[in-house]
Amino acid sequence: MENPGIKIAWGGGPWRKNHKRVVRENIYDATELAEHGIDMLDVNYETPKLMTIWRVAKKDPAAGVSHDATNFDIHIPVHHIKHRKIASHFADLTMTIVHEMTHSIRSEKFEESNIFEDAATEGLAYMSEDLVASEILVDSEIAFNGVSNHLGHGSDYDSLKNRLHNSHQVSLEDEERLNIELDQWFSPYGSMLGVALGINEVCRRLSEGNEFNDLMQWPAEAILDVSNSSTLHY
Ligand SMILES: [Zn+2]
Repeated sequence: MENPGIKIAWGGGPWRKNHKRVVRENIYDATELAEHGIDMLDVNYETPKLMTIWRVAKKDPAAGVSHDATNFDIHIPVHHIKHRKIASHFADLTMTIVHEMTHSIRSEKFEESNIFEDAATEGLAYMSEDLVASEILVDSEIAFNGVSNHLGHGSDYDSLKNRLHNSHQVSLEDEERLNIELDQWFSPYGSMLGVALGINEVCRRLSEGNEFNDLMQWPAEAILDVSNSSTLHY
């Protein structure tokens, strides 16, 4: 069955005509390539996507953000809105769309934000970038080979996962606690260890022979292998 596809909207009030002209063609091409990449991963989704393009300041750290199963945003720094400049960021733009699309598709099934789900969805989003890049971009490198070294091995890695587990438990208390824990694990101003851990676990599930599109359907606990019961298999 064919995926419903992406509609494009322009955020932040009327765009200057020449700005829009510079960005539009790149956005259309990048979107087409990103959709092709998602198809190549055999990922199916049901909810049509609405992608809003925003002009952002130079210091904005996020290339994009996904809100729910329908909506996600792409941020174009104003200083990139020049013909050559935007063309030189075409690959990044494509990968950002793939990344945010993956989050949005994942939300169709798992919409709730929590420590486990956020780690799983970040792992999936970064790995989808990596898999699509290796298919469609020349000279792409597997970006995440080093991530497991960075996270430590054996008991070090186990204790990191235990910390994630504890964090998940305490964050169930209330929303304020959840936000504190989410910041610690995922914010660019925090450690981002939750992102790295998610990437590492998704990498591992893939190397065990699982298909990416199947992992998209797995509960976070199964992806992260943090289930309390050792008899549970997905
Ligand atoms: Zn992400």
